[in-house]
Amino acid sequence: MKPDIAAVGSIALDTIKTPQAEVQDILGGSAVYFAWAASYFSKVGITGVIGPDFPEEYLKLLSTRSINLDGLKVGDKTFRWTGEYGENPDDRKTLSVCQDVLENFNPELSEEYCSSDYIFLANINPKSHLKVLSQIKGSNLVAGDTMDLWIETEKTLLLKTLRRIDMMFLNESEARQLTNESNLIKAGRSILSYGPKTVIVKKGENGVFVLGEDILFSIPAYPQETVRDATGAGDSFAGGVIGFLAQENGENLRKAIVMGSVIASFCVEDFGLRRLEKVTKEDIMGRFEEFRNLTRF
Ligand code: AMP
Repeated sequence: MKPDIAAVGSIALDTIKTPQAEVQDILGGSAVYFAWAASYFSKVGITGVIGPDFPEEYLKLLSTRSINLDGLKVGDKTFRWTGEYGENPDDRKTLSVCQDVLENFNPELSEEYCSSDYIFLANINPKSHLKVLSQIKGSNLVAGDTMDLWIETEKTLLLKTLRRIDMMFLNESEARQLTNESNLIKAGRSILSYGPKTVIVKKGENGVFVLGEDILFSIPAYPQETVRDATGAGDSFAGGVIGFLAQENGENLRKAIVMGSVIASFCVEDFGLRRLEKVTKEDIMGRFEEFRNLTRF
C-alpha cells in the first residue's frame, strides 16, 4: 500500500513519572504519536525498529487505526525512554534512554513509502534522517522534527537535514538553542535561512506560531485544565498538522495547525496514548469548533 505519509522515527516503551503518578513501559515514540494523530485524516506508514520484547497488543492497537506497519524491522531490542516531569509540564528531564537501539538503526524505505506525497522525519538521530533523505525521490514534501540533544551533539548533521526539509517543527527552546536568537521571530527567520520554507514553533501551553515565505500565523493552545502527561504532545501536534495537510492536498495550513493543536490537547489528558485511543474524529471536529469560538473576535 502506498501511504499518503511515510513517517520514520522512534517506536518506544516509555516510563513516565509525574508528581502525581508513574507508568511503566507504555506505548510511545515519536513515530507512534505522529502516526496515530495523522491517521485521523490520512493513510500513514511507519518505518522504525522494535525488538522481540515489543508487546503484540501494541501492534494490534496500532492496526486499529489502519497504520501501515510494513516498514517495521525487528532488531535486538525496543527503544526505551524514561522521563520525569515537574509541576510544570514543560519542565521535563530524561532519566534514561537506550540510544544504542536507534544509533544502529538503518532505515530502509520501500518503493511505495519513498514515493508517498509526504515524508515525516520524526525525532531520531539526524544521521538516520539523512539516510532517509538519500532514498526519497525529491518530489515529496518533507517535514521534520528534532530535539535539544541533536542540536547539542549533532548540529552539523542537523543543519544538513534542514537544507532538505520543507517544513520544520521545533519547540521554542530548541529554536533559540539552534539559532542563538532569543527573539522567536528572529530565530524563525534564521531557521528559514537554513532551508525550510515553513517553520512551526511550538510554545507548549502558550500555543504555536508559524513563519514562512507567505505566512505569519499565531494561535494560542486549547485551554486545558487537565494536563496529566505532556509526552507526545509535540509529535501528535505534528501528526495532526501533516495528516490534515495531506488530506487537503497541501492547502489550508492554518486549519491544519488548529487540527494539530486540538489533537495535542487530547493527548495530554492522560498518559501515553490512553486518551487518544478513545478519541474519535467527531471528538476532534467538536473541539475544533470550540477552538474556533474561543479565538474568534
Ligand atoms: P514529545 O513529548 O513529543 O517530545 O515526544 C516524546 C517521545 O519521544 C517519547 O515517546 C519518547 O519515546 C521519544 N523520545 C525521547 N527521546 C528520544 C530520542 N533520543 N530519540 C527518539 N525518540 C525519543
